[in-house]
Amino acid sequence: MIEQRNGSGFSTTCVHAGARPDQHTGGIVTPILPSTAHRFPNPSGENLYPRYFNIPNITAVSAKIAALERAEAALVVSSGMAAVSTCLLGLLRAGDHVLFHSELYGGTLHLAKETLPRFGIEVDFYDLQGDDFMTRVRPNTRMIYAETPSNPLLKVTDLRRVAHFARSRGIVTLVDNTFASPINQRPVEHGFDLVLHSGTKYLNGHSDVCCGAIAGRAELVDRIRSAAVDHGGVLDARACWLLERGLKTLALRIQRHNENGQRIAEFLRGHPRVSAVHYPGLTDDPGHGIARRQMDGFGGMLSFEVKGAVADAERFVSRLRLFTLAISLGGVESLVCFPCRTSHAHVGAGERARMGVTDNLLRMSVGIEDAIDLMADLKQALE
Ligand SMILES: *Cc1c(COP(=O)(O)O)cnc(C)c1O
Repeated sequence: MIEQRNGSGFSTTCVHAGARPDQHTGGIVTPILPSTAHRFPNPSGENLYPRYFNIPNITAVSAKIAALERAEAALVVSSGMAAVSTCLLGLLRAGDHVLFHSELYGGTLHLAKETLPRFGIEVDFYDLQGDDFMTRVRPNTRMIYAETPSNPLLKVTDLRRVAHFARSRGIVTLVDNTFASPINQRPVEHGFDLVLHSGTKYLNGHSDVCCGAIAGRAELVDRIRSAAVDHGGVLDARACWLLERGLKTLALRIQRHNENGQRIAEFLRGHPRVSAVHYPGLTDDPGHGIARRQMDGFGGMLSFEVKGAVADAERFVSRLRLFTLAISLGGVESLVCFPCRTSHAHVGAGERARMGVTDNLLRMSVGIEDAIDLMADLKQALE
């Protein structure tokens, strides 16, 4: 399949890659095959079992994700955090050191600070100022973990620069690509070894499946799969099938998320009651230059502050009609949340303040509704 970096051809991959049409009826959709026991020997010669990650619905959706990420291999697991923990615990051992981006999804931050040290894994954090990640590398650094654009402040990491630095030292690079989706950003093309997703978000896109995905170099994905078999966070056949269905419209949905995200960021930026709009598509955003180079679109995630006290931000949210106050993101419906109470609730108040996650920072997942309706809703709620 010939595809170009500008995104043409991605809709075709979304629809067709990995699909396993029904051999018996000619049905064009991958059938749901929920068996947990398979007669031996299976025609493929393999012992099929869900937790071995080799049943047909897992294989089909994994192949689609690998194709979208331009990766040699992919694996689906039971949640985004299962993807994070399986990658880390599958590749690291006691005495290893990992460098994490200082702005991380709250669950990942908790895992890095509380769980990894219990297994003797050393962790440290880099920010994006200057060469900080380079100066923090130690002789036992085995992995650099990035998240870009990051949650909730949409900071952008220069993937090519990190990959180039890490590769020359034999350090594995892993990035949480949840906010961008493979339609907007394919880290493997920038030299990253591994990519992970909370598939609960854009990949599935309909706010009705909890899942995760890992993609990258086959040798590393094989090691992670072997850990996943031990950890047991398998994704059930029906959930795989729903994820596969969701992925068919990923390129279409992301195109609309990109358009709506840009329009709403610009609208909020121009509104007198709003301050500090974080969106990599705004030309004066600190991440805009790098984002333009490494992304094909800027996505539907943004964050901003409503001027005034926390009560003003709360009043604004309570007046919204089309945006639901809810955690999660990446679905067709527009959502809004207070990161200080949701994804960053278990990050200490001091740490939150240092990160810039203020108490009236709102994170918005812009859905695929009509931008004109979304802007009208924001306008009435702000005034
Ligand atoms: C939601 C999210 C996760 C965790 O995914 P779950 O599916 O909830 O386990 C990880 N990273 C990012 C950026 C997320 O938004």
